[in-house]
Amino acid sequence: METASLLIANYCVPCHSFCRYCLLASCGKATGVDYKAGEALGGRIIREMKDARPDLHCSYYIGYCMDTPDLPEFLRFSREYQAPVAKFLQMNGFAFREEPELAELMGSIRENGVELIDLTFYGLEEYHDRFAGRKGDFWFLLRMLDQAVKAGLQVNVSIPLIRENLSQIPELYEMLSTYPLRRCACFLPHSKGRGRTISEQRITKQEFEQLPEKIRNSFSRMKHRTEAEWIASGETAEFVKRSLILVLTPENFEKYNRMGAAETLAELEAMDDRYLQEMPPVQELARMYGDPQNQQLFRIRDLALIWQQRHIAETGNRIYDMHDETHSFSVHLREDELLINRMVVESENGRNKD
Ligand code: SF4
Repeated sequence: METASLLIANYCVPCHSFCRYCLLASCGKATGVDYKAGEALGGRIIREMKDARPDLHCSYYIGYCMDTPDLPEFLRFSREYQAPVAKFLQMNGFAFREEPELAELMGSIRENGVELIDLTFYGLEEYHDRFAGRKGDFWFLLRMLDQAVKAGLQVNVSIPLIRENLSQIPELYEMLSTYPLRRCACFLPHSKGRGRTISEQRITKQEFEQLPEKIRNSFSRMKHRTEAEWIASGETAEFVKRSLILVLTPENFEKYNRMGAAETLAELEAMDDRYLQEMPPVQELARMYGDPQNQQLFRIRDLALIWQQRHIAETGNRIYDMHDETHSFSVHLREDELLINRMVVESENGRNKD
């Protein structure tokens, strides 16, 4: 499979939220390496790859959240290498701040070239705070939104649709629509990290169709169908290229610091090739694990992921899970898709959330 990009991820910034379904499985601690050491390694890989593989998109990003004194340096670095994160930040999980400090933060990221931020709301206040694992998170996000607009930033709001929050969505959507947002869009969470436990929360087509038209229209444009419809259609996920992500940890840092970029890429490609050889094609997985009656909604990417996870579990976890983001992983993409900071987007508009 063609490799389209190589990303270096350093989870060196602890997140201050504890989201119930955190797709990164954040544990409230940093699990990466020192920011500057990670940046030096990332910069070296990007430079080496520019010469060896100019066709390959290469970048360095940090997580779990962006709340770090190194943020201005990270934005400078990202600008230098024209990484999308230089202009777009996801900003959940920051430590609570008073108004002047919040205004300073938004002003500073604007001055450092950020144009757009994304904030994710999980439901109305009480539910959102419970979901995010800390009281006050909902109002803090609204204050962030307010200060971001005052600083001249554009704001996208994202709302995950799950069974538990569905009844709150119309009121939440109306309330958020009173702000001058660039976009307010609903999406279905996928099944990674703690999102693996979300299966019974996935909504059905019927539940989706009962939402107000405005909200349905704000939904991701990527194709969603019920599991029953995907199976009946016989359409498979036609993944033709991949992004490979090297996740830095204190245990693997020295090894990759000694290795050249070409050798690192070759190692990740070999891991993913092995995964592709051991994993049955999506059509076969559909026959093995698909539920032809299931009315829950999926993108084919998410459904394939769930079947692949079942296959890995049934083979006694013998297959290294190349979709698990807690260690180096891959994202398989269709021809018209790109991976930008962990989000799969359609290449012509960058609108949809992974
Ligand atoms: S804010 Fe993001 S990284 Fe932090 S716990 Fe929530 S989903 Fe995970």
